[in-house]
Amino acid sequence: MYKFLTIFIIFLSYFSVNTLLTECYSQENEFKTVVAEQGDGIYKILRKNGYDLSTYFDSFIKLNKDKIINENELIVGESYYLPPKYNTVRTDEEFYIDSLIKSQFKSVSDNKETADSVVLKEDFVESELLYTDTIITEDAQAESEFKVVIAQQGDGIFKILRENGYEPSIYLSNFIEINNEKTLNNNELIVGESYYLPEKHIPEKSDKHYDDYIHRETDITKWELRYADTIISNKLEGAMIYLISGHGGPDPGAIAKVDGHTISEDEYAYDICMRIARNIEEHGGKVVMIIKDPNNGIRDCRILPMDTDEYCYPNLTIPLNHMQRLVQRTNAVNDLYNKNKHLKYHRALEVHLDSRSTGTNLDVFFYHHTYSIAGRKFAMNIRNTFDEKYAIHQPNRGYSGTVSDRNLYVIRRTIPPAVLVELGNIQNPRDQRRFLDYKNRQALANWITEGIIKDYKMNQ
Ligand SMILES: [Zn+2]
Repeated sequence: MYKFLTIFIIFLSYFSVNTLLTECYSQENEFKTVVAEQGDGIYKILRKNGYDLSTYFDSFIKLNKDKIINENELIVGESYYLPPKYNTVRTDEEFYIDSLIKSQFKSVSDNKETADSVVLKEDFVESELLYTDTIITEDAQAESEFKVVIAQQGDGIFKILRENGYEPSIYLSNFIEINNEKTLNNNELIVGESYYLPEKHIPEKSDKHYDDYIHRETDITKWELRYADTIISNKLEGAMIYLISGHGGPDPGAIAKVDGHTISEDEYAYDICMRIARNIEEHGGKVVMIIKDPNNGIRDCRILPMDTDEYCYPNLTIPLNHMQRLVQRTNAVNDLYNKNKHLKYHRALEVHLDSRSTGTNLDVFFYHHTYSIAGRKFAMNIRNTFDEKYAIHQPNRGYSGTVSDRNLYVIRRTIPPAVLVELGNIQNPRDQRRFLDYKNRQALANWITEGIIKDYKMNQ
């Protein structure tokens, strides 16, 4: 009786909380039940009963939460409720992401004013030294001059870039930007007109991966070092981390202007993820970059050029539709999880640089799924590492990292426990200093890695 009442209340809460969805449900009010057999997992049982995993996974957990053991295993012989079927995909993330997209285009234009006023503040210098002990020279690249070329008959942007030794996919947006008023439709050039060539990104020492791992990505059954050169410890041996850098492909995420360059969230999130990946391998763990750029390794430059050639594991074009993007990367994680079940520890981490924080504190937001105890622990362990580091390096800075649950598609639907972290806001001029200097990006990656190691230790 009690159990029935609980289920009834859960069912009622569907209608009250998700009022938007009520009309999507079928008329059937009763839950069907199935009995778990040897070898059944949530994934398998949903598929056997004609459910799309990515849509119903969460509802299944809600309905059967007392009967699911760790890592989403089912108890053989136990009966489980199947969720009511509804016709459309839920749209809660769409609202979230739409609002992010709206806010990013609004605040790009705001940035100029705030940038000027922030410079005048006394704590400007201090704010540069967020993560490292050394002073960073910010304007090493600021004063360089652009080279000029004259467009000839038949020249287009791609041609002119290639002829001058530029990789068009990397420099296209820079070129358009600095020659703003002199490009015609379809990126045509005006014959006889002079054009600026963008500043070249010079690969530095740590850019040695720039090309050489392109061919190392596809066969995950054969584990090898993809992101690091050597293993320095075995602290993460047996751990499997799925790294999702936010946005990518046609979606740049939040964008901002720095010294006349447009920078985008996806490139910086990607660079931090690549650094985490390198750290994980160095500590003996396994890692997959779910979002990959074929020709970008770890980059130590301040301005990371925007491009759109990222793809989703294993080799999928990232779709324009954002809901499809979320489903695609979630499926990638879940497929990899299912192929690597022999490993005991799996965690997914999604990295963003677009929080809604507006204050002057360093706000880092960690989100986990409501029903994921392991996800919450994972978030707490990374957050606690940030706390410790701040206590040592910046005792007076007013760090406020928060851990909270949130109903986001990717963390809700990935089978391994997942955390989404917002490391700051790339549009906030104060926060930008945390991301522009690669030493700060490396420090963030190191702290996150320490948090992962801590979490892994607790699970052993
Ligand atoms: Zn984002």
